[in-house]
Amino acid sequence: MAETIWGEARKRLQDTVSQQHFETWIAPLRAHAWDGKSLTIQAPSAFFRDWVKKHHLHVIASAASAVTGGEVVVQVEVNRALAAPPPGGSGTPPRPRAARRASSAAEVADPRYTFDNFVVGASNEIAFRAARTAVEQPGSRFNPLFLYGGVGLGKTHLLRAVAGCVAAGRGPETVLSISAEDFVNEMIVALRHDHVERFRRRFRRIATLAVDDVQFLAGKVRSQEEFTHTFNALHASGRQIVLASDRPPHELPGIEEALRSRFASGLLADIRSPDPALRRELVRRKSATHGAELPADVIEFLADHWCENVRQLEGALARVDAYATLVERPVTLALVRETLANFVPVRAGGLTIDRIVGEVCLTFKVTRAELMSARRTARLAVPRQVAMYLCRRLTDVPLRTIGSGLGGRDHSTVVHALEVVERKLRADAALRETVAAVEARLSS
Ligand code: ADP
Ligand code: MG
Repeated sequence: MAETIWGEARKRLQDTVSQQHFETWIAPLRAHAWDGKSLTIQAPSAFFRDWVKKHHLHVIASAASAVTGGEVVVQVEVNRALAAPPPGGSGTPPRPRAARRASSAAEVADPRYTFDNFVVGASNEIAFRAARTAVEQPGSRFNPLFLYGGVGLGKTHLLRAVAGCVAAGRGPETVLSISAEDFVNEMIVALRHDHVERFRRRFRRIATLAVDDVQFLAGKVRSQEEFTHTFNALHASGRQIVLASDRPPHELPGIEEALRSRFASGLLADIRSPDPALRRELVRRKSATHGAELPADVIEFLADHWCENVRQLEGALARVDAYATLVERPVTLALVRETLANFVPVRAGGLTIDRIVGEVCLTFKVTRAELMSARRTARLAVPRQVAMYLCRRLTDVPLRTIGSGLGGRDHSTVVHALEVVERKLRADAALRETVAAVEARLSS
């Protein structure tokens, strides 16, 4: 049970914390125990434990709470057995895993993301086939392959499947799978340390480049330039490029025309919300990994109400599974309704508190953990209030839920934030512009 909850919580964390933080601080943690209220996880060292408690406990607890549907207390303890043996032998104290090894086999061959376990239907078939072609005939037909679509529809899944296949077939060093965010971060580090040449070489040696969430490049002119160089060098020599984005190139704001037209110069393949047939198939396939087969009425119910996107379905199944285990009852329609009653399904287009917070964090350059924290410095207070304001404007989520989604704040704090933001928006043109830009990105 601890493992199930932790497994699902980790998936959520993968979406909420940056890849670098995830790999360094979350991936090495193990679930140890679950007593119905508190989840005990283990860290490889005391230093590691303290760091996680200080910086990540809040997001971990909210991820776990989202999975179980109740308030979860997270305890972190030390288990030295988890410390990887230091390279070359003994002596050195265990250290957190190095930030990221961009194309290590472990990362590119993620068993969760394969072509085999991708469920194909009318809404994603073109993207699926094009991704396979990118593996089978790299660089020749659809180059670049540009996948786009809303949240939770399988873009990252396909991208990783491409990377995993290429790595398995031609060796992990021939493929680089990276998020646009990491691309930018690594470039900044390279610039700072005067390692630009090395940075470029690493990209230009590979046969396949997969870049996720390219919308992240919006407004980052220097990064776009560097990315355009990389793109051109690879493309000119027939290497395969696969990109994923939450919207098509011509709708990407803040992307230079040169790059935008390159994005659009190969095959554009969209992934849409699953149609009824695919929804049913997804429920069947996804629930099969949770043990017993679901009754027909449960499948119908989940397909109709909880399958706007696949991530939503996975979340619902995990909650149902956790709840059924907890109360030791079989999964019936009544139990499913009961379990999911307190959750508002993600709306079409996936505009959730999570997504809004993510976009606000990007714009104001603060981390999610900071936004959720109790700190009230102006640097954090403004984005936090803006996030509340946007949640209010763009979702039907009740104020109470907005408050609890933003670090456990109460209803009156949200009301106050709305007033503050509205007042500031009237007076401050720069803020008006910033908020409008966030809103545009969220609602396109
Ligand atoms: P996106 O990158 O489009 O936001 P992801 O690729 O992260 O979405 O998908 C969200 C979750 O749903 C992942 O766990 C993924 O494996 C799963 N998923 C999405 N589409 C499919 C599909 N067609 N078949 C099986 N699993 C899917
Ligand atoms: Mg993704």
